[in-house]
Amino acid sequence: MIIHVIRGQDQIGGSIIEISSGRTRLILEAGSELGEQEPKIPEIDGLFFGEPAYHALFISHYHGDHIGLADRILPGIPIYMGEKSSAVYRAAADYLGKTPLQTDGFLRSGETITVDDIRITPFLCDHSAFDSYMLLLECEGRRILYTGDFRANGRKSFSALLARPGHADVLITEGTALSRENKANITETELEMIAGDAMSEIQGPTFIFMASTNIDRCVSSYKAARHAGRLFMQDVYTASIASAAGDNIPNPGTFQKVRVFLTSSAEKQRRILKRSGL
Ligand SMILES: [Zn+2]
Repeated sequence: MIIHVIRGQDQIGGSIIEISSGRTRLILEAGSELGEQEPKIPEIDGLFFGEPAYHALFISHYHGDHIGLADRILPGIPIYMGEKSSAVYRAAADYLGKTPLQTDGFLRSGETITVDDIRITPFLCDHSAFDSYMLLLECEGRRILYTGDFRANGRKSFSALLARPGHADVLITEGTALSRENKANITETELEMIAGDAMSEIQGPTFIFMASTNIDRCVSSYKAARHAGRLFMQDVYTASIASAAGDNIPNPGTFQKVRVFLTSSAEKQRRILKRSGL
């Protein structure tokens, strides 16, 4: 297999990686560059321009620096990503009035997808994006593990994840945190306890500023609110995303102690709530 990091080796995000065998060409990620208002399309023949020359695009998760250019690739190149990840991304697009990304197949943890002579096995990992995957690629007797983005301080067992892919000949990973001070982060569960204690001490409403697409944080916030005996309120954007993530994620449709509140443009927000089944 040939690995060509087309973009992303000297920067954080904006990843586009080609993995090819003698007869199959795959792309991992079609990320836009962090901080770009209007993404610039890289001149990659066969992916964004000319005739399609790749057999599939695999997206590890829905953060823009991994998926931002996926809707710009040539038609005819199948797109794979997680099913829940796709649902969350579609809900966000719906709210923002954007055309939702069409996907052709879903990643499911441990289920191998075969594209000609390359086998791709996704493994669910913990990240601030829901339904994120590491990808193991096997071909010609070699094994490449592409980690995508991941963290070890979430609720999913990191050691269990590390045990799953087995031996890898090559590891491809992002160095986002390599230059940061080497200290342990608090865990998601510790954060939940801190937030719950803080809410218990405060009178009146408590506001949490967070990315609505960070579903694990949504769960932590809900648990913190319950710890403090409070209702958990979501704005319409958060509510539509949380309900797209699944019935077991705190949302106003399936959780008694979760409510939605309207902020502005009430008619548009009610329309979105209705489409979200709320
Ligand atoms: Zn990410």
